[in-house]
Amino acid sequence: MYLEATVQHDDFNDLLRRVPDFTTPQLKRLRHHIEKRVKLDAVYETLTASEEAVTQCPYCQSKTFIRWGSSENERQRYRCKRCAKTFNALVGSPLYRMRKEELWLEYVETMRYGLSLRKAAKVTGVSLRTAFRWRHAFLSSPRDHKATSLSGIIEADETFLPESFKGKKTMPRPARKRGGGKVTLVPIALALDRSGHITHHVLEHDTKEEIIAALAPVIRENSVLCTDGNLSYVEMVKTFDHIEHKRLIAKDNSRVVEGVYHIQTLNNFTQRWKGWLKRFHGVGTARVDNYLAWFRFMDEREEFQDIVWVRGAIPSLEWPANR
Ligand SMILES: [Zn+2]
Repeated sequence: MYLEATVQHDDFNDLLRRVPDFTTPQLKRLRHHIEKRVKLDAVYETLTASEEAVTQCPYCQSKTFIRWGSSENERQRYRCKRCAKTFNALVGSPLYRMRKEELWLEYVETMRYGLSLRKAAKVTGVSLRTAFRWRHAFLSSPRDHKATSLSGIIEADETFLPESFKGKKTMPRPARKRGGGKVTLVPIALALDRSGHITHHVLEHDTKEEIIAALAPVIRENSVLCTDGNLSYVEMVKTFDHIEHKRLIAKDNSRVVEGVYHIQTLNNFTQRWKGWLKRFHGVGTARVDNYLAWFRFMDEREEFQDIVWVRGAIPSLEWPANR
């Protein structure tokens, strides 16, 4: 355990008794300290859980290892009896070697609010470089945890965002041109099922080949696929043995067939995501998938707690359940 209770019962009651006499500024300071401590405790609790979940050496998978002191930040180290390597519970996690755990939840909060990197760095008091590294660390798990299997009633559709080279120092290739000097749009294939599993892929081109390659691998047989009139999905359905296909052909995508077949769950998700995305004032095309994963990760959880980001980044802990 990291933090042990060392305050006597009486001392604590004394403090409580004095609270009514505190001034508002004092109370706010106290609250600030308490909130900080509560956040730190949540992180420590998660780190302790990750230590309890260590069952084998991450290098050779041997189950014989011993405790081997702790590092200066009090993380328990282990030493494998077979390969003699030392490790801690975070090896293989994007949080490995990340310091300043007292700031993690504060940082995660800036992600929940969707602050820019610069603002997040300022609010948290870390460098811009650290802010960038941390965002990448916390985002890598949601990005890698897309739905791998969709079943039941599935809704699929594409959406588009303007192409952007934001965040790139050089243009990686000539911008895609599509006549008339219009903005090039980047297609994104999305699909979800009614149990709340969502998958998404940023496409190079809005072609049937790319849509099928992105979505077909996660769709299970014996599902019902709801799409708009896009013929790509007709082609996709042919690659399955038993998929029922409901094509909802209406200008505003609002058509509902037999009371349950529609693509409104997906359209709602896409609209909420795009609304949330506005705060970033345009996102680089290379990062669109990260922003989708970020939003999905929060949207999937009704009562979102910031600690979920930390739990989610530790492979030995169970992936934090959605609703
Ligand atoms: Zn080993």
